[in-house]
Amino acid sequence: MRYIGQGLSSLDTFCSFMCLPNPVCQKAYDRINAKITDISEALANASMKKAAAEEKNIDGTVNSAVVSGDGTWKTRGHTSLIRDCALIGADCGKVLDMEVMSSYCKGCDSYKGPKFGPKYSAFLAKHQIFCRKNHSGSAGGMECVGHVQKRTGSRLRKLKALWGKKKLSDGKTIGGKGRLTDAIISKLTTFYGNAIRANSHNVNEMRQAVWNVWAHTSSTDDEPKHWFCPKGKNSWCKYNVSVHNSTVNEFSHKNTLPKAVSEVIKPVFKDLSHLKLLRRCLGGKLKMLMSH
Ligand SMILES: [Zn+2]
Ligand SMILES: [Zn+2]
Repeated sequence: MRYIGQGLSSLDTFCSFMCLPNPVCQKAYDRINAKITDISEALANASMKKAAAEEKNIDGTVNSAVVSGDGTWKTRGHTSLIRDCALIGADCGKVLDMEVMSSYCKGCDSYKGPKFGPKYSAFLAKHQIFCRKNHSGSAGGMECVGHVQKRTGSRLRKLKALWGKKKLSDGKTIGGKGRLTDAIISKLTTFYGNAIRANSHNVNEMRQAVWNVWAHTSSTDDEPKHWFCPKGKNSWCKYNVSVHNSTVNEFSHKNTLPKAVSEVIKPVFKDLSHLKLLRRCLGGKLKMLMSH
């Protein structure tokens, strides 16, 4: 059904017309879709990796390859909010890498007031870290953030697969309820990308913000680690809001990652190779900032 752009309700209609039994419920339907998405993504990544090796082989060079770019919009015309772009190898003609760009976010869309003034700034301060947009016309070079963000996602997924059924330090596996689920990976990845986007002007702040994604999500009541979270009443960090309101004694951490899990994923957030990659993508602009 997804391939022809229809959802569960169309499947319902189809089944009733064909006198077939009712299809699955919404929850199961979403679960199946999520599985298919994960597997297609892994397959696409593997296929692109293979194509890149092939391109290198034909090209004969070690560290460079000639590519061309192409992209399509979700709907016709140039008003679509979602598009994708692909890098195509000049010699093998296969897709080597791709990225989906979205300038739509349900959260941003839910804000109905005028988009200026203190009220809007307060909304942005709270919402920014959760924002699903990864593209805006004026962002220019920051588009390569999506690439770094994607790599973070696949590193976390790889870690999860690597640990699989093995026991962590607390005797439980890495996955499962309240642990490193696919939903948590997707949330961490969004936070990661937004941390970079919000601090594109300063590499040190960028590094600190990325590190803070880990610190904030692994905070517990006994060990709060909100050192770098924004402070004040408008912060997205609820812990710091309660500090501001002097109600921190009543605050309790919900949805935090268990210590055993957060220790395993720590290296992903400590690794600085993403900054090197960003510096390469952004060229002179960031290099200049880094030398300051
Ligand atoms: Zn948003
Ligand atoms: Zn925090």
